[in-house]
Amino acid sequence: MKHYAIDQWVDFTRGLLGRESQTEMRTHLAGGCRKCRGLWDFTTKLTGTCALVASDVVPEPAVRMARAIFPVRMQDRTKPGNRLPVEVMFDSFLVPSPVGLRATWQVGWQGLYRAGDCSLDVRIEPELKTSRAAVIGQITNHIQPALEMGDLPVSLRAGKLVVAETLSNRFGEFQMEYDQQSQLKLCIHLADSKSIRIPLKKFISDQPAAKRRTSPRKRVAGK
Ligand SMILES: [Zn+2]
Repeated sequence: MKHYAIDQWVDFTRGLLGRESQTEMRTHLAGGCRKCRGLWDFTTKLTGTCALVASDVVPEPAVRMARAIFPVRMQDRTKPGNRLPVEVMFDSFLVPSPVGLRATWQVGWQGLYRAGDCSLDVRIEPELKTSRAAVIGQITNHIQPALEMGDLPVSLRAGKLVVAETLSNRFGEFQMEYDQQSQLKLCIHLADSKSIRIPLKKFISDQPAAKRRTSPRKRVAGK
């Protein structure tokens, strides 16, 4: 008797076979073949489970975590000529904050840039007492606001070294945590092979710096 292999039963349960094969296999099942019935039971459950899993909406934080664990490798295909000129529209360090707002900006920085048709909103939140920081941003198209800015490769680079990388979500938002270092650039690769690069400011939180300054002095005093 002719039996069917598991890949054929997968195609059968997914409805991918032609009408003739589908009928042959159904007849075979109806004939009472226990071996094939077992495979068919399994592939039916499998197809059901896969459809269920695929319809689950994965929460954004989970996607972000997964991308941090399995960084997306991307090539730096952009030539320097494809870099869009960047204009600074706002820099929270350059404006005197209203008194009521000062506390908000005490640890961190916010900037707004324009490059081509894009607006780039960037916030840096340094982690207290460490050299780490988070960069949170959103890229939008101010000419066509409805244009989706998702899945754009976003990276932090120190020269040729990629310090952190991610992809923007469907709202054009991205977030990366990193170890602060000098000459860091935020790079965004746009769909038309153009790119945006902006230098990131480095923050030094007061507390570790103060400690470094006081401890050698104590040792000197003890001598
Ligand atoms: Zn069979």
